[in-house]
Amino acid sequence: MIGDLYLSWSSDEEILKRGEYGGVVSSLLKFALENKIVDAVLAVKKRDENRYDGVLTLITDPEEVIECAGALHCAPLNIAKNIRDYFEGSKDMKIAVTCKPCDARAIIELAKREQINIDNLILIGLNCTGTLLPRIAEKMIEEEYRVNPNNIVREDIDDGKFIIELEDGSKEERDLFELEEKGYGRRENCRRCEISIPRMADIACGKWGTTGHKATFIEICTEKGSKLMYKAIEAGCIRVEKPAKEAMEERDRKEKEALELSKKWQEKNFSEIEDLNYEERLEYWFKDFDRCIKCFSCRDACPICYCIECRLEVDRDFIPGGVLPPDKLFHITRLAHVGDSCVNCGQCQDVCPMEIPVSKLFHMLNKELSPLFEYVPGRAVDEEPPLVTVKEKESRIDEPYLFLKKKSTS
Ligand SMILES: Cc1cc2nc3c(=O)[nH]c(=O)nc-3n(C[C@H](O)[C@H](O)[C@H](O)COP(=O)(O)OP(=O)(O)OC[C@H]3O[C@@H](n4cnc5c(N)ncnc54)[C@H](O)[C@@H]3O)c2cc1C
Ligand code: SF4
Ligand code: SF4
Ligand code: SF4
Repeated sequence: MIGDLYLSWSSDEEILKRGEYGGVVSSLLKFALENKIVDAVLAVKKRDENRYDGVLTLITDPEEVIECAGALHCAPLNIAKNIRDYFEGSKDMKIAVTCKPCDARAIIELAKREQINIDNLILIGLNCTGTLLPRIAEKMIEEEYRVNPNNIVREDIDDGKFIIELEDGSKEERDLFELEEKGYGRRENCRRCEISIPRMADIACGKWGTTGHKATFIEICTEKGSKLMYKAIEAGCIRVEKPAKEAMEERDRKEKEALELSKKWQEKNFSEIEDLNYEERLEYWFKDFDRCIKCFSCRDACPICYCIECRLEVDRDFIPGGVLPPDKLFHITRLAHVGDSCVNCGQCQDVCPMEIPVSKLFHMLNKELSPLFEYVPGRAVDEEPPLVTVKEKESRIDEPYLFLKKKSTS
């Protein structure tokens, strides 16, 4: 049932051994493929056994699922955008996909805009408190741990520590906040991220609440998730037990602590504008936007930016040929299109060649809009985004798509 919580384990010895915790994610994916519940699985694996090179892979052979077992913390993949662009929004293909909270939220925002057919997806959510950029992670391990990054067999984030495990089983840990103060650690957007358990997915899987067991802690979030889970239990693919009260309390405590840490980072990042008047605020925003070289990388990377005919390109509504796009217009237009639905995934900032803190600025605006519209992006498919107006020719769908907040029109 929705809301059920379990400690769970794969019944397959090999998956149990290679799984990050109880191997349940791998077992559910394999079960879904074997039983033709889905046509394919979209999962993440190491490229050439390099754990700093996590890549998306589409699997149709159930025996290959095990190759993706394990968690890769240096793989901030743009999963929603990949489904939209490379699998036609999963229009005709049923896919089970592993996703972090920001991936699941972006998928939901795209489903609302009819860019992804969520009925064809099973979202196997992974709890998450952060991903790192691969090269920064390698440099951090070399300089702060004095360890060759190639000798790491596992990394983890727990209780405010970044922990590495070496081939001989020994572990080294450093304080995450201190690493981040030095410019290492998680991506800037991850530090501010408030959603660490993906309850908008069909099932949320994590390690919190499993202390002392190599198990996967499962929360069932939708009917779809419930069906898959109980079929897999019935078939003997996974075994489950009800978590003890202490395990649930531990999970709640860790979720709260993660939220407190993200609030601390939000305060640090957003306090810069708190006491500014209107003019000073404009100046604050434009000092970064005016440095923009209009390479369009942030637009291309943003999973929520979905118009096929972007107004910001030459000879569309705004920009005639023969002139450069006006500095401010580019970002004001993007803010108008995605400001209400930004999921703080950080993809825009990761790709910006001018190192403009795009994700921070969009997240900052979204934090101001969210209470006004009572809208949390990516929380549920049936919640309409308040602002988006996209004309027929910009959209991929047949009907003109006009969202207006019901309250404001009633
Ligand atoms: C970046 C990251 C941070 C995490 N942080 C926490 C946390 O703070 N608290 C917590 O309770 N749990 C966290 N988890 C979840 C935990 O590490 C396990 O993934 C989860 O418990 C499932 O374990 P398992 O043994 O059932 O998975 P397995 O059977 O080992 O399967 C793991 C699956 O994860 C997928 N995967 C690996 N890396 C990624 C990635 N970067 N993006 C998308 N999919 C990926 C693979 O496709 C694979 O199929 C995190 C996971 C990741 C990837
Ligand atoms: S934004 Fe949040 S969910 Fe996404 S990778 Fe960062 S911490 Fe994880
Ligand atoms: S604006 Fe940036 S942070 Fe927000 S959804 Fe788009 S890419 Fe992600
Ligand atoms: S990625 Fe950076 S430089 Fe390129 S358009 Fe976006 S903000 Fe401007």
